[in-house]
Amino acid sequence: MGKNGRDELKRFMRGLIKRNPGEPEFHQAVREVAESLLPFTREHPEYRRAQILERMTEPDRILIFRVTWEDDRGVFRANRAWRVQFNNSIGPYKGGLRFHPDVNLSVLKFLGFEQTFKNSLTGLPIGGAKGGSNFNPKGKSEREVMRFCQSLMLELHRHIGDDIDVPAGDIGVGRREISFLFGQFKRLENRFAGILTGKGLAFGGSLIRTEATGYGAVYFMNNMLGHRGDSVEGKTCVVSGCGNVALYTIEKLTQLGAKVVAASDSRGFIHDPDGIRDEKLEWLKDLKEVRRGRIQEYAEHFGCDFHPGRRPWSVPCDLAFPSATQNELLGDDAKELLANGLIGVAEGANMPSDLEAQHRFHEARILFGPAKAANAGGVAVSALEQSQNALRISWSRDEVDTRLKDIMKNIHEKCVRYGDEGEGYVDYVKGANIGGFVKVAEAMLAYGIV
Ligand code: NDP
Repeated sequence: MGKNGRDELKRFMRGLIKRNPGEPEFHQAVREVAESLLPFTREHPEYRRAQILERMTEPDRILIFRVTWEDDRGVFRANRAWRVQFNNSIGPYKGGLRFHPDVNLSVLKFLGFEQTFKNSLTGLPIGGAKGGSNFNPKGKSEREVMRFCQSLMLELHRHIGDDIDVPAGDIGVGRREISFLFGQFKRLENRFAGILTGKGLAFGGSLIRTEATGYGAVYFMNNMLGHRGDSVEGKTCVVSGCGNVALYTIEKLTQLGAKVVAASDSRGFIHDPDGIRDEKLEWLKDLKEVRRGRIQEYAEHFGCDFHPGRRPWSVPCDLAFPSATQNELLGDDAKELLANGLIGVAEGANMPSDLEAQHRFHEARILFGPAKAANAGGVAVSALEQSQNALRISWSRDEVDTRLKDIMKNIHEKCVRYGDEGEGYVDYVKGANIGGFVKVAEAMLAYGIV
């Protein structure tokens, strides 16, 4: 980027920070997009005249509400919840709900902003949103989680609907929470509608939804490698996290002949040089999905190393899949990974790599699949769940998986179309940002001043 470009970026960011003080995650997400889009919109003055990028950084609306509930000891508790309805230019709002003590408006605005681009990239008619609460489900009983979900839905149901806004899961919100939320919505509105995705198979859920984000990230990595005549087969991989995204990333990598040697949770990481596979992976799934235990127990059970309080980026690998949370892979981690021979990254989590790490990967010209593209498989299958609900049918596992593979391939092609830098290098960040922007921008131009 030349001096004029840098000055323009500075001016743009100064305005954004002034309008949105104290929201560092949101600033970071917008900066990453603006780095690609300001040069692009300079060549397309119609977007500038209509202030499309400025308008896209302003959510359509934000709902903030109190969620009061009663814990098992009979004590009254109050949490805060949000729904950020960011942009519905190309379809009803769509995006997950996150329950985590660190949730705040900045985090949800960054996620909603990114979601708008990601959803557009899938090629499906879905707008962008995100929501959640600072409620911490850890250590709460089933009944407490249920009461919290029911209380949250008491307010949220007024603002969502199959043609309005269709939430899904995210950190801390899995099948159990979606089920409680859906049951309460149905009771309040007396209708059975596809207003949430990630539902149980008995009541409108889609096959492959649970696996979709992780599987999709691996398909995307395979597409990037395939573009260079390579594949994931035989590669050594490191995955961070041990939740929904991470577990099914590990599963698909193993199925395709790669070896996953490390995984983590919020307390530390395990290093298993023999690979997390077969009965070990099933044991880990049971530990995290059913027993809700700590990853340290894997190390104790199978006799491998556990590194408390650390992330797994010091473990040498060919491919890295950060799949836990935002800003979990920093500049120094990127340096260490590259020094150890890293050739590719696919972001399963949202914004896991900070800007310095991203710049290092870009300079090293390795394969870097940003979250908007690499983890779009989850929301894509959520949109397929909406379609099945609207049609009142259920597709087979193979049918959904085939569609998921096609969607990930199309996203990859879009990234190459807008991000090909020549000499065999694709800037996937630029490709995903422009590829996601164009469709939303065209719709906004068509609507005029709204
Ligand atoms: P889960 O709650 O199922 O799992 C999250 C995992 O990350 C857990 O292992 C958790 O550890 C760990 N983790 C959470 N916060 C931190 C932290 N601050 N530091 C270290 N580790 C942490 O969430 P998901 O797998 O659904 O989501 C993971 C990421 O993927 C998020 O960024 C989410 O936005 C993104 N994503 C998810 C999609 C989905 O379909 N679920 C779709 C697209 C993106 P512990 O077990 O100790 O809690």
